[in-house]
Amino acid sequence: MTASIVIIGAGQAGVQAAEALRTGGFEGAITLLGDEPHGPYHRPPLSKAWLAGDIGAEQLVMRAPEALARKNIALRTGQTVRAIDRTACQVWLTDGSALPYSGLVLATGATPRSLPLPGGDAMGVLALRSRDDASAIAKRMAMCIEQQLPVVVIGGGFIGLEVAATARKKGLRVTVLEAAPRLLGRVLAPLLSDWYAQLHRSQGVSLLLGAQITALETDRQGAVSGVRLADGTVLAAGLVVVGIGVSANDQLARDAGLACERGIVVDACGRTSDPLIMAAGDCTARRLADGSLLRLESVQNATEQGKSVAAALLGQERPFTATPWFWSDQFDKKLQMAGLSTGADQWAVRGDLASGSFSVYHFKGRNLLAVDSVNASRDHLQARKLLDASVSPTVDQAADMEFDLGGLLVK
Ligand code: FAD
Ligand code: NAP
Repeated sequence: MTASIVIIGAGQAGVQAAEALRTGGFEGAITLLGDEPHGPYHRPPLSKAWLAGDIGAEQLVMRAPEALARKNIALRTGQTVRAIDRTACQVWLTDGSALPYSGLVLATGATPRSLPLPGGDAMGVLALRSRDDASAIAKRMAMCIEQQLPVVVIGGGFIGLEVAATARKKGLRVTVLEAAPRLLGRVLAPLLSDWYAQLHRSQGVSLLLGAQITALETDRQGAVSGVRLADGTVLAAGLVVVGIGVSANDQLARDAGLACERGIVVDACGRTSDPLIMAAGDCTARRLADGSLLRLESVQNATEQGKSVAAALLGQERPFTATPWFWSDQFDKKLQMAGLSTGADQWAVRGDLASGSFSVYHFKGRNLLAVDSVNASRDHLQARKLLDASVSPTVDQAADMEFDLGGLLVK
């Protein structure tokens, strides 16, 4: 069979894989299949600048179809793959057609978890993953502004806090309900969770931590009208945005018999349990050297894994082992995170929390694990270099603004 690579999912990872194949010298056919009606677009602005109305639709475009065509990448939007036949090496689309492959990339992303509560599927209860989701939220926000109805956000993670900040910027009354005792509990140090809670409260967001929601109330038209809590309180709402995490889109892979565990299991090069099939981005769970699984849901992870799987299809080793990094924009604060803080037992603050520009260094024993910087991009870039080089300052050095952390790198 002539070389023909099929990529399922025209998002961050899929586009990166397609382009890296061409850059790497692949001359066969590349087909990029996406089930959304739109060409590839950037998701991060959907909860930030785009939702706020600060940028237009053209600035969401990641790659114009013509740009892909110039690289001889066949983009097919509105095409859903329903099955993979590993014996015949072909994928089946929902329109009944089949497409053969010599190599296959799964870049199917993730799906927001839904709220398993009475009223959880009412009109006006919306999740945010796609451009269409964001349009639906923007429309409902406009209705809330017109009718002076409040917004309730369920989940104090990235989606919830970014949407809450955007809604406040638009002048809406907003309440965030978080089940855990603190915000962004899985990624931030406790003192930074508290700092973010204070930031949101100072901007007029009502926050309820340890919230227990029992039902969503609806009006006679079936639209959401409020959120009922375990103590019987009902918070009025014209819009409820649910941001309670995502599940990897691994059903195609499961049905095809590939190893999956909270995502499609891949190695550092993005190889699945089938040598002809790679996977990249939010749909994956990466097996680490110690046997544990790492799930990352970020632009950097999708981009780097996209490059790794292209290399693997070209017979090269390009493991993704760089320090993970993420960012989040809320109000006028840019949070930039480098490394993974799980297991940290000591923290150092560099800078002044009250100034709104500082970094929190996470340590496990003497080892630097991660650095979270707020409006401190220089610290963030330096932290990535320290972590990449496995160089740890001491806790005291990290906290001492006079100490030149960059100097540790040149030794
Ligand atoms: P996706 O971009 O989700 O692409 C997967 C595509 O595959 C989708 O279009 C999906 O519809 C399609 N697909 C699925 N199944 C099939 C099928 N069977 N057939 C055909 N197509 C299929 N990350 C950051 O690092 N920083 C941020 O600030 C940030 N902000 C974000 C804000 C929002 C609102 C959202 C939703 C995410 C944000 N993220 C952010 C996360 C980041 O966007 C994702 O990690 C990244 O998009 C993952 O890329 P991906 O290619 O794996 O998946
Ligand atoms: P998330 O970051 O996992 O946060 C979900 C939050 O909701 C968690 O704090 C979770 O608490 C809480 N929660 C879970 N169930 C709840 C319930 N029933 N009631 C109230 N709170 C509940 O996920 P997300 O914010 O939904 O984001 C979805 C995806 O988009 C992720 O992949 C994320 O990385 C991506 N994203 C990234 C960015 C960024 O990097 N800046 C921005 C937006 C979106 P527990 O932790 O206790 O479960």
